[in-house]
Amino acid sequence: MAKRLDGKVAIITGGASGIGASAVQLFHENGAKVVIADIQDTMGQAIADKLGKNVSYIHCDVTNEDDICNLIDTTISKHGQLDIMYNNAGIVDIPFMNILETKKSDLERVLNVNLVGGFLGAKHSARVMIPRGKGCILFTASAATAIGGLSSHSYAASKCGILGLARNLAAELGQHGIRVNCVSPYGVITGMAGGVDEADVPKMEAVLSEVGNLKGQVLKAEGVARAALYLASDEANYVSGLNLLVDGGYSVVNPSMMKLQSSFMN
Ligand code: NAD
Repeated sequence: MAKRLDGKVAIITGGASGIGASAVQLFHENGAKVVIADIQDTMGQAIADKLGKNVSYIHCDVTNEDDICNLIDTTISKHGQLDIMYNNAGIVDIPFMNILETKKSDLERVLNVNLVGGFLGAKHSARVMIPRGKGCILFTASAATAIGGLSSHSYAASKCGILGLARNLAAELGQHGIRVNCVSPYGVITGMAGGVDEADVPKMEAVLSEVGNLKGQVLKAEGVARAALYLASDEANYVSGLNLLVDGGYSVVNPSMMKLQSSFMN
């Protein structure tokens, strides 16, 4: 049976952990040649070693333009093409700070990885995709693009910036046959949660599910990776400029109004 990414070459930034690592696994299972780009060298290399010759690892700090250039150019030398650039690397600032506590340097640090990193990835992948007249640029944004109060100010600003960038890129790059989309998750327990003990994961997932809208389901990194796989595949060949929310409807529901309504119903 044909696999969904047969013959395609993908770069996944932040592929050493969490959502990115799940996407590496899934894209690989679906026939893609995958290049993992991350700063966690031991973890990234271990995934590449485990998955075999179609998966490789390159050290790349997404905030460093030389690293991004090297990532793109090395991928082209190795595989001859780049079909999918998945800009997924990101950081979060925990604990959340109120606006008076938030320093300019906090904002700059988060913007630098989440927004500047995505910008550089998109710019240099477009450089090699435009001459081929096709390609797919993806970003992991966040449900914070659709609703306030989910994250720190810096994080929300970075992810809304990514969404704006993605839409603008979709507008410019459509003429070159390049699709640009975002996948925007609700909370997932990953490395991002910072120092979470494996044993505590179910407890933390239960808390997120309790606060979330969709019951009976837990959002895992694989669930986000499956949405990215769809956007990366030819099944989404006319999908561009989309912000695909993987949030169980969280961002379209007003929980306080729901509480009020159910108090009338009971
Ligand atoms: P994670 O911490 O498990 O993975 C992030 C990866 O990015 C790590 O491997 C890290 O080393 C890498 N990274 C960080 N800075 C980098 C840099 N400068 N250069 C290259 N790589 C770098 O977290 P995750 O939850 O898998 O996050 C992946 C993406 O999903 C991020 O963009 C995050 O903002 C987004 N996201 C996560 C959640 C969530 O709840 N986990 C929700 C919405 C969006």
